[in-house]
Amino acid sequence: MAITVKVCKRPEQQVSYVRAALKGMRLTFKHLLQPKFTMQYPEEKSQDDWALSSRWRGTHRMMTDEAGRSKCVACGLCPQICPANCIKLVPGEDEEGNRYPLIYEIDEFRCVFCGYCQEVCPEEAIHVGVHFENAEYDRARFVYDLERLSSQTHPVSTLWDPSDPKGE
Ligand code: SF4
Ligand code: SF4
Repeated sequence: MAITVKVCKRPEQQVSYVRAALKGMRLTFKHLLQPKFTMQYPEEKSQDDWALSSRWRGTHRMMTDEAGRSKCVACGLCPQICPANCIKLVPGEDEEGNRYPLIYEIDEFRCVFCGYCQEVCPEEAIHVGVHFENAEYDRARFVYDLERLSSQTHPVSTLWDPSDPKGE
């Protein structure tokens, strides 16, 4: 299609803007009567039609075993792959040679929620979660230590599944 230029001429004499104002008001009132697509968050929380996708990548969660211990074996893969360099891991080892994290922290403020840590973890220990309400007043509060990561209870992300690209 050829590109055309529409030239709008300015009125050469005084004109009334009442007609244009009424036209605008008609449009405004038309929208007043239409169904609302907004939600008064946070007073109103998600209903079914506002639910997050199961693939949502948000606040992390560390999985624990039956004894309440972190499933992390301090292999070092997640801090290695993390593009934001926001995972701090200090590995430890018990008398039987089992590795575990002495320190495991994620800076949720620096995280880009790519989900690589979840994908790479051989123990399915660390996950991004279906959760976003993690605002804080203090930047230091965005650094989640092992205890805080383990105490999260929200669902974990299913991430993108190549065998089901549309999530059906
Ligand atoms: S989601 Fe991505 S950026 Fe965030 S901690 Fe995991 S690997 Fe790092
Ligand atoms: S990849 Fe998993 S097991 Fe390895 S350090 Fe990270 S959380 Fe721990």
